[in-house]
Amino acid sequence: MEGEQRPAPYQGLFADGHLVLYTLCSVLLPVFITFWCSLQRSRRQLHRRDIFRKSKHGWRDTDLFSHPTYCCVCAQHILQGAFCDCCGLRVDEGCLKKADKRFHCKEIMLKNDSRALDAMHHHWIRGNVPLCSYCVVCKQQCGSQPKLCDYRCIWCQKTVHDECMKSSLRNEKCDFGEFRNLIIPPSYLTCINQMRKDKKTDYAMLASKLGKQWTPLIVLANSRSGTNMGEGLLGEFRILLNPVQVFDVTKTPPIKALQLCTLLPFHSARVLVCGGDGTVGWVLDAVDEMKIKGQEKYIPQVAVLPLGTGNDLSNTLGWGTGYAGEIPVAQVLRNVMEADGIKLDRWKVQVTNKGYYNLRKPKLMDVYLQQDEGGKIISILIHDVATW
Ligand SMILES: [Zn+2]
Ligand SMILES: [Zn+2]
Ligand SMILES: [Zn+2]
Ligand SMILES: [Zn+2]
Repeated sequence: MEGEQRPAPYQGLFADGHLVLYTLCSVLLPVFITFWCSLQRSRRQLHRRDIFRKSKHGWRDTDLFSHPTYCCVCAQHILQGAFCDCCGLRVDEGCLKKADKRFHCKEIMLKNDSRALDAMHHHWIRGNVPLCSYCVVCKQQCGSQPKLCDYRCIWCQKTVHDECMKSSLRNEKCDFGEFRNLIIPPSYLTCINQMRKDKKTDYAMLASKLGKQWTPLIVLANSRSGTNMGEGLLGEFRILLNPVQVFDVTKTPPIKALQLCTLLPFHSARVLVCGGDGTVGWVLDAVDEMKIKGQEKYIPQVAVLPLGTGNDLSNTLGWGTGYAGEIPVAQVLRNVMEADGIKLDRWKVQVTNKGYYNLRKPKLMDVYLQQDEGGKIISILIHDVATW
């Protein structure tokens, strides 16, 4: 009988070599692919961040758009990408650079200072108009088709069908829509800038052209309040108003933001504080500081949109205990426009323990006193000085 043929030693070695190579490949290849993909992703992210940083738009990333959304460049349906929280443009990752170059954002101040206050045209952007909006021409519903269609003016929020858009509408002057009495028009800031250069300070003359009802609103929101709800609100207010009048107090402290009041006519400005009692106290401190600086004539009326929990002050003033998106932001602005002013006195009180062993630290309290027009006290609120 013939004996079994043994594999030559080099053949076994060769097989072992294959095995090692195969094992190495099966282990190293996925590692390499994962590494390469994450490298590409971080490069893409860096590139995107670079565009965000240099852009005049207020780009924000999103993993999922809440409504059916179409890219403003390629018109494809998109689930994720970026949106501008000033003008509302939406774009996928691949078209971001093009969109950034092709479309202008809201101009907070006009470059051409020769333009008169009422000479601004609509600024139309195409697609992704809000659901339940109606065409200004035919009064039928807009944006109901599943594609990139119809236009919205990013200042007055008017919407119009593709087929209803006429050249007369393109050349029409924008009246800033429903919230014109709260919006600071870009041309106003241009004129103010020119007046400051000429050392003129009669802003009331200029503002009179905007009507008696003009009470510009400055929004001061805390982006960290209400489990970061403030962040989304900031964007919604930037869409409806001039982005220059919307501040994140974690980036611009209230005393700095309130200096915008000094560019507005005396006693005309209103402030909407979005945050907890701590943020409201912080803004009221800044208002007190304006008094010390001798800026009493510029002191604004303050309204509150309470975020998070523990909003005693806001509740006492009738602004509710907490806002969680029950009403649209546009309705919040309507409420601010309709609100009546009341007087509020505010003191800081230090409470010290008078016991023999005085071990406790003195406690600092805020005392708020609410009075009606005749000076009658309506309510008193005592509150710990909030630290946020
Ligand atoms: Zn695209
Ligand atoms: Zn934009
Ligand atoms: Zn418009
Ligand atoms: Zn129409």
